[in-house]
Parts: sequence; structure tokens; C-alpha cells
Amino acid sequence: MQKQRQQLLKACQTLDKLGLNRGTSGNVSLRVKNHSHHDNGDAGFLITPSGMPIHSMVADDLVWMDFNANATGSRRPSSEWRFHLDILAARTDVNAIVHTHSMFATTLSTFRQDIPAFHYMIALAGGNSIRCAPYALFGSQQLSNNALTALQNRKACLLSNHGMIAVGETLEKALNIAQEVETLCEQYLRALQVGKPVLLTDAEMQEVIEQFRSYGSWAETSPLNEANE
Ligand SMILES: [Zn+2]
Repeated sequence: MQKQRQQLLKACQTLDKLGLNRGTSGNVSLRVKNHSHHDNGDAGFLITPSGMPIHSMVADDLVWMDFNANATGSRRPSSEWRFHLDILAARTDVNAIVHTHSMFATTLSTFRQDIPAFHYMIALAGGNSIRCAPYALFGSQQLSNNALTALQNRKACLLSNHGMIAVGETLEKALNIAQEVETLCEQYLRALQVGKPVLLTDAEMQEVIEQFRSYGSWAETSPLNEANE
């Protein structure tokens, strides 16, 4: 599991470097299929610890958690562990989750509205909008339920008056989506300052979604890979 610890730590550092993490607010998790220190070899995940700035975090500070919410480690898991657990339990297509309070996603989330198809890249989240989950208290079961619903068939959502969640098959893909969503949020906010942007039609978005499906590997060619070195 040391390898996964290093991967997760590196992802946290990348979030920080990209300016997506604000203070101690971002949290990241990674599914780990085999936990060698556990008798029954139960599946679980690694998650960032609670209230720890990234620059002082080391691999051993990451907390291991099983799907019964038993945490193992010297630190307490992020106070937002609940939606990490619920998403990883419900979504077999997801192995990594990135949650941020990044500037533009968070600003946009205060309007409690879905982001419409103002740009074709909205499709990278898996549909013709990026949904905004209704407000609920951070760390609560209600917030987790709201996030799961907003993420249905999607790879990203906003959380009202809170921030965003991006998910992926790998940590790298989840990070790429988080970065793209933040960019889209900035662009949408700028467009709204001028007026009402013209939206793509459902047919136009469907075309984009199909194109993305046939490329499949857009995430591997993202500029994030350079930032990741
Ligand atoms: Zn949060």
C-alpha cells in the first residue's frame, strides 16, 4: 500500500501546485483493493487526514478506511470521509475522488444551479450539464446522498455553497477532471458577467459525448501530466 500512499500524497501536492486546494480544505481518496495489514483482506480506501496542510503531510499521515468506516492510522480521516466512502462503495467505475473548495467552482456553487452546456468541455463530466447538489452540512449523510445523486452517470458535480467533487477511474483522471471543471467554472463566471451565454443544444452535446467516448484517452494527454512530473 506504500505505492498508493505515495500516489495519493503526490496528488495532494499537485492539487496544491495547481492552486485548487485552499488551505486544509481539499481532500482526496484512492481505492485500495488489498490491505495487507488487515486479517480479512477487506477492500477499503486511503484518504487524506483531517485539518492538515499539504506541505506538512507525509505518506504515513494518510488514513486507511474500510467500507464500515473503520479508520486505521495515526491521524483522523478528513471530516468529509462520508461521501468518499459512499461514492467508492456505490460506483465501481470510480477508484479516486478529488474534492476541492477551489475559487471558481466554489463561487459558482453559491448560486445553487447546474452549469449548462455553455462550452463543449462540459461533456467531460459525462453529460450536458454539471449538476449542483443541494446544500447540506459538510460531513453529513445528507450531503453524501445529495452528492451521489448529482454524480449519477457523471464524473463531477458542484456542492451548493461548498465546492466540487471530481471522480475518476484513476487519481490522474480525477485530478484532470477537477482541473477542467475549475477552468469551466471560471469561464462560465466570466461569461455571466457579460450576459447570457449561448448554450449548445442537446444534439450538439450528444455529438461531443460520442466523440469523447471514441477518443477515450483525453485525460492522458492533458497538460496536467506535465504539472505532475
Ligand atoms: Zn469540503
